[in-house]
Amino acid sequence: MAANSTGPISFEEARHIVEEHASHLGANDTEEVDLLDSPGRVIAESIAADRPFPPFLRAARDGYAVRAADLAQVPAKLRVIGEIKAGADSDLQVGPGQAVSIMTGAAAPPGADAVVMVEYTTLRGQEVEVHQTIEPGVNIVPIGSEAALGEQLLDPGMRIDPAAIAVAASTGKSRLRVFKKPRVGILATGDEIVFIAARPRRYQIRNSNSYSLAAQISAAGGQPELLPVAPDETNRLRELILQGLQSDLLLLSGGVSLGKYDLVEQVLSELGAQFLFTSVAIQPGKPTVFGNIKCGADTAVQSGHEHKYFFGLPGNPVSTMVTFDLFAKPIIEALAGMQPRKLVFLRAQLKTEIKVKPGLRRFLPAVLSGEFDTPEVELARWQGSGDIAATARANCYAVITPDRDMIQAGEWIPLVMR
Ligand code: AMP
Ligand code: MG
Repeated sequence: MAANSTGPISFEEARHIVEEHASHLGANDTEEVDLLDSPGRVIAESIAADRPFPPFLRAARDGYAVRAADLAQVPAKLRVIGEIKAGADSDLQVGPGQAVSIMTGAAAPPGADAVVMVEYTTLRGQEVEVHQTIEPGVNIVPIGSEAALGEQLLDPGMRIDPAAIAVAASTGKSRLRVFKKPRVGILATGDEIVFIAARPRRYQIRNSNSYSLAAQISAAGGQPELLPVAPDETNRLRELILQGLQSDLLLLSGGVSLGKYDLVEQVLSELGAQFLFTSVAIQPGKPTVFGNIKCGADTAVQSGHEHKYFFGLPGNPVSTMVTFDLFAKPIIEALAGMQPRKLVFLRAQLKTEIKVKPGLRRFLPAVLSGEFDTPEVELARWQGSGDIAATARANCYAVITPDRDMIQAGEWIPLVMR
């Protein structure tokens, strides 16, 4: 282990260290993309309302535009002086005792201050009988009540989701300026790890971590860059680490435990790395390493960044996946230009009791089921941190706090979705 390694810190402490460093990071360049290609990207411009929202007095129901005062006594009979459908221009005006037949999305005529739903009316020839009283303003959305002209609707740093797309489309933006995706290097290590297309020998394992990490990086808004698998040998490992540090962030998998050939920390240390933590009191994922390397002309790494960050994620495939979600994701999101987000646990009711040894915060593969307001969760049966088959059957991680050794069925417990 590296000389500056320390004992395990708590999950909360580790997460706060990551969030603190993430808060000083940001994206560099921007590019323009088509609106249809923008979901999941991070917006780099502000979008303001180019007209009031709504731009005209909008009828929110099919019915009759009326003067609320005319309906003080019901039933009331009003004379229908015409019709306005959505998308139609009209110079109708509603006077006392009058109504205009109107459709959802149409511009309400001057004089009217409410729209009575068609359900509360009976039409007889040119006359409509209204059975219900109405307050002024009902079913009419005032001009600019959703957003005033020029009001800021989207801020830089927002991840573009369907609602943001709707806003952009409504303001006439067919292209959006977004931050360039950060390039995230992936370096799997281990003498036993072989390329997925190779036929593994009895004692070899196909490289799954590089691919699960690539998927997680893409989902987090980064651009994965796979490096060749590094052997457990210092020279080649150093060479590949230096190559990986050309990316905006480097994720290593494996080689961070206490084994004789776990060389990742040693090599990083020789390259002048600063370690921010090297062990977290969690399971899976205890040997997780987070740190950075100073960049500059006189250092091993040259780049536009002041520091290059790296994670040494434990090689067990479930540990790699879990620790990515818990720690690497916020750094990628920051490098992608996203505003920081807190990690929030959901809650569900435990179906079957859990017994564990206390002391570690556990993130155990689990199956969330139930529906609506009765979410239920049950641990997936698994063989430990190497069990990707169980993890693939799971859809979340149940969170067991370090103070607990036994949790009874029926208790509400925290979980993280993946
Ligand atoms: P390590 O963290 O290097 O001690 O590896 C822990 C376990 O994870 C070992 O059983 C490794 O074979 C396995 N492992 C490490 N890296 C990978 C990888 N890239 N893909 C699949 N399994 C891996
Ligand atoms: Mg290894």
